[in-house]
Amino acid sequence: MTESFVRVDNVAKRWNGQLGVEHIDLDIPRGAFVALLGPSGCGKSTTLRLLSGLELPDEGSIHIDGREVTLAAPSERNLSMVFQSYALFPHLSVAENVVFGLKVRRVAAAERREKLKRALEITGLLGYEDRKPGELSGGQRQRVALARAIVANQPLCLMDEPLSNLDAKLRASVRKDIKKLQLDLGITVVYVTHDQTEAMSMADMVVLMKDGRIQQTGAPEDLYYKPANTFVAEFVGSPPMALIDGSALPGFDGVASIGLRAENVTVVEPGTGRLTCQVSECEFLGSETFIGLSHPSAKGLTVSMPGLKHIPNGETLEITFSDSDLHFFDSAGERTEHKKHATAD
Ligand code: ADP
Ligand code: MG
Repeated sequence: MTESFVRVDNVAKRWNGQLGVEHIDLDIPRGAFVALLGPSGCGKSTTLRLLSGLELPDEGSIHIDGREVTLAAPSERNLSMVFQSYALFPHLSVAENVVFGLKVRRVAAAERREKLKRALEITGLLGYEDRKPGELSGGQRQRVALARAIVANQPLCLMDEPLSNLDAKLRASVRKDIKKLQLDLGITVVYVTHDQTEAMSMADMVVLMKDGRIQQTGAPEDLYYKPANTFVAEFVGSPPMALIDGSALPGFDGVASIGLRAENVTVVEPGTGRLTCQVSECEFLGSETFIGLSHPSAKGLTVSMPGLKHIPNGETLEITFSDSDLHFFDSAGERTEHKKHATAD
């Protein structure tokens, strides 16, 4: 068995007895890109701060690179951090901001210059050395924060929603920069985000949290194709997985809810479908249109059609899907297996 680079064992953190995070277990291989994903308040930042040493756990242990660091100070953990707020010094230039930590650690001037040049090259900031943060765009400021993490040259980098102050287009491009950087430097990244697209597109391993607890840990495709519960099913994917009441489908009345993804739904001729629905909205995305469907026993039903489609709201559509594309969940919302039982038809 390969030794994990970061290991978190049964960690809990509470605030005056109130929920922070509970039962956090993580096993992160060296060089992995891990996304901590979940809605606001679910405990992502708390988990990251526990890794960094900015918070200390009430229970459990944390190991980094084979060394126990549960109660160690942040400076003893060999890690760098990038935050949403950039945390740049406004009165210092780009260059001074980037090498600030090196100066504090009394790294020699020649080495500082060399590291600075390389970090600015990697982040596309050459030529901006003398600007102040106030003279940069949001994307450039975020790159300065990244450059600072690069010169720190630590094997582990923790990032807390580093892109959430950027507009959508910039977010998509900086996302690629960060991913490339992580691969080029060969570092391990733990990346907090509430954006499932970000997590799914960047991470090798996604940790989806809710109410202070991990719901599922796995590769993006594990969460997408094998959601552990209905929360995961509805959080991951755009559009989310539809959930159908088992009683609405012959042969599945023993199942509490049935999950179905838009790409597995087909519209068929009247009289030949498995569910009869009403069109509730059409969302045109360019290469495809998502048609929202309403049905009294289902929520989130969507069918994807290629190109531009206009179907009036209220129009009746019949849909079908194959049993092999269905996901089954019990009354507690947990994933379960189900064998269809024989029906009259
Ligand atoms: P996320 O980053 O996923 O939005 P957080 O980790 O910041 O969530 O917060 C998780 C929970 O812990 C929330 O209920 C939050 O209110 C609580 N919490 C976080 N930090 C503190 C703190 N310093 N004092 C009290 N409660 C906190
Ligand atoms: Mg947070």
